[in-house]
Amino acid sequence: MASVLDAGSGIIRKREDIMIETPLIEVHDLVKYFPLGGSLLKKPHSWVKAVNGVSFKVEKGETFGVVGESGCGKTTLGRLILGLISPSSGRIEFDGKDFSTLNNTEMRSVRRRMQIIFQDPYSSLDPRMKVFSIITEPMRSIKDLSRNSRRELAADLLKRVGLRPEDLDKYPHEFSGGQRQRIGIARSICMRPELIVADEPVSSLDVSIQAQVINLMAKLREDYNLSYIFISHDLRVVNYLCNKIAVMYLGAIVELAPKHCFTTIARHPYTRALLESVPQPNPHQRGKLSPMEGDVSSPINLPSGCTFHTRCHYATDKCRKIAPPLLQVEPGHYVACWLNQGRGFEDY
Ligand code: SF4
Repeated sequence: MASVLDAGSGIIRKREDIMIETPLIEVHDLVKYFPLGGSLLKKPHSWVKAVNGVSFKVEKGETFGVVGESGCGKTTLGRLILGLISPSSGRIEFDGKDFSTLNNTEMRSVRRRMQIIFQDPYSSLDPRMKVFSIITEPMRSIKDLSRNSRRELAADLLKRVGLRPEDLDKYPHEFSGGQRQRIGIARSICMRPELIVADEPVSSLDVSIQAQVINLMAKLREDYNLSYIFISHDLRVVNYLCNKIAVMYLGAIVELAPKHCFTTIARHPYTRALLESVPQPNPHQRGKLSPMEGDVSSPINLPSGCTFHTRCHYATDKCRKIAPPLLQVEPGHYVACWLNQGRGFEDY
């Protein structure tokens, strides 16, 4: 029977004792705007609309992928979920607890149940600290854990991520990029979190190393019953690891689907264009749509109506005027596009 270290209390509890029905994370109509050019006495002259009305939930043990181009708001979304920044409006619930109702102590306790894996394994590890200190840093708050116990736990974690216990006494510069990311992963699981937000965790690694790190994350998900929110611009990686995928464009989810829908019947033109953008070595397997053109619009001045209309081959007058709602088109599959609300691509 699996046991879990309750990061809040430091008590070891049986996994079965804490099984719950509610989703691990629920996000309701989340909005985050950043002010530009303001001060204490002066109103900002404009706002960066980084996240603009996002809702979804992540079940226990699920890997939820968030994919989109740079600047679509996916990293801001991850920071909001971790409680590192506050939303402008909307609600985040972790394990049924609304962030906005928690006091500082409760919020700290919730934060310990969530961890992050950073994109850059070079800047995310303190070069002056040995691996032992890096990995065990989050454990310092557990007063009754001796140094020897921490060392044993850290050595075990290193073995689980494919490194050796002797590596505890080395500095980050003695490791390759992939090994550093493994150290970052060991640190992220040391408090036995329930949710890990992985922000582009493999994008700075060589392709061969990417596969190793992704496989490691998949294995740890099974070993620790982890849930991931996996943020990436790389569709191949998201497809491989995630159960459910949300596609973001200019701060909003434009398509949300289980993995099997996403790969076979993606419906939003942006998703289809992203899929077309993945290099396909076999010309017979290439799709008929041409990859999208043009750049993402500014999140300061969002286009009217559907924000994708400036790059969409199918845009109509209605698209330019009225924003399409995110509607369910089949069980578990949601799309924000007028094209999918009554008519399909085949009708165009
Ligand atoms: Fe394109 Fe219109 Fe659909 Fe937006 S709503 S993605 S502009 S077809």
